Amino acid sequence: MSLVLTQAYATDFPSLVRAHTVEPLAGARLSLFNQPLAHQLGVAEEDVGQLREWCLGNPPVHGHAQKYVGHQFGVFNPDLGDGRGVLLGELTDQQGQSWDLHLKGAGATAFSRGGDGRAVLRSSLREYIASEAFQHWGIPTTRALALVSSQHGVQRERLEPGAMLTRVAKTHVRFGHFEYCYSKRLVNEQQQLWQHVMQRCWPHLADAEPIEQFRAVVKATAEMIADWQAFGFIHGVMNTDNMSICGETFDFGPYTVFDRFNPQQIFNHTDHRGRYGFLRQPSVGLWNLQRLSQALSLILPADVLAPVVTEYEDYLQQRYLKRMSARLGLIQGDEQTAFALIGEWMGLMQRFEWDFQDSFIMLQDINSGARAMPDEPLFKAWFDRYLTYNQQQPQQASMQQTNPRISLRNHHLAEVIGHAEQGDWEPARSYLAALTGKAVSDESFKHWQQPPNDNQQVTSLSCSS
Ligand code: AMP
Ligand code: MG
Ligand code: MG
Repeated sequence: MSLVLTQAYATDFPSLVRAHTVEPLAGARLSLFNQPLAHQLGVAEEDVGQLREWCLGNPPVHGHAQKYVGHQFGVFNPDLGDGRGVLLGELTDQQGQSWDLHLKGAGATAFSRGGDGRAVLRSSLREYIASEAFQHWGIPTTRALALVSSQHGVQRERLEPGAMLTRVAKTHVRFGHFEYCYSKRLVNEQQQLWQHVMQRCWPHLADAEPIEQFRAVVKATAEMIADWQAFGFIHGVMNTDNMSICGETFDFGPYTVFDRFNPQQIFNHTDHRGRYGFLRQPSVGLWNLQRLSQALSLILPADVLAPVVTEYEDYLQQRYLKRMSARLGLIQGDEQTAFALIGEWMGLMQRFEWDFQDSFIMLQDINSGARAMPDEPLFKAWFDRYLTYNQQQPQQASMQQTNPRISLRNHHLAEVIGHAEQGDWEPARSYLAALTGKAVSDESFKHWQQPPNDNQQVTSLSCSS
């Protein structure tokens, strides 16, 4: 056995972890395993079997639950931490990059607060599929290595099959880790944690000035959220304990990617006030960064923190411009005009309740002559301005590269979850393949391409997981 799982985090931060041994699920089976990711992690073929066993919690795997706190729906909660997740340890790939292996649904930990420490198949599969789709779309995200399922029931709104998800990320340190150090005035720990995060996520900045380091965090967060806006993604629970310090989409819960675009719609049924609605995500990102910078004031001076936070909006705007330009095939030109075209496009999408992803494909097809222009004066007027801006030459290649033909749709997720709960994982595998650009049959492709009909619309998602 040559596969080595190090315990660097637990060794370096004993006061920020509690030891926890994974409690395997009764009758657990490895239902999904991400072989290409295992290879990217530098795991040799002969060691893959070992890795698969770890994902099942065999032989007893000793890991650590991490302590953190956070602002949940705007309110500080000092009482958080991995209540069911456990950091198994780190793997180092051939490039020398270390990766956290984290298993979610590992049984009750020191931070469970009366919870059962388990995860259900439904939410674990939603996370697995979304993170792999995001990876394919080029949106910064944690990864999914394995999904273990069991017919053994876990009680939520109903009794549901349980699961364990093995997640891979450069770090599992959240904004909330720094908020914890701040709340306890753990100056040394916070300083060391900051260095740890830099080493993991931005090694080239490990010795840089603090202002450069903090800028990397602000920029990564802004760019991640810009990508969400450009792909019609609603995270659903942007609490500071769900914000990864390295700006990767983290903790997929009651998320949604729009079918028909209705920016006012709230899908997370516990978010009564719409705090985490689509249009609020950019400002919540800023609010969360303000909580982070308050926490970091323990180790960084105000003249480093304050000016960099004000750069957030610029980073977000620039990334949004870049992403939406690629999606619409805009050439590089006057930014004001480009922003206006993007804004008007979103307005059309909202007014006509177009399907978010398909609207870009529609535009691509109109450009190529494969589809007729909608007989709609507002669209025609926009299209004229669009052609003028683009000097009659929209960038079809960038559109084709950027615009997914298969979207992440709640009704398809519900469908594959239903089958998986009955023990049939083929639909989940097929949907994953289609979402990540792998070959599937024409019939499957057509199926996964279909937006929901009126009876299939999902309008509300449970936060339970
Ligand atoms: P989340 O809503 O997934 O971000 O979780 C918020 C907090 O609740 C985290 O600290 C989780 O570890 C904890 N938690 C969520 N579900 C459970 C559970 N079933 N058992 C124990 N802790 C949980
Ligand atoms: Mg969470
Ligand atoms: Mg969660």
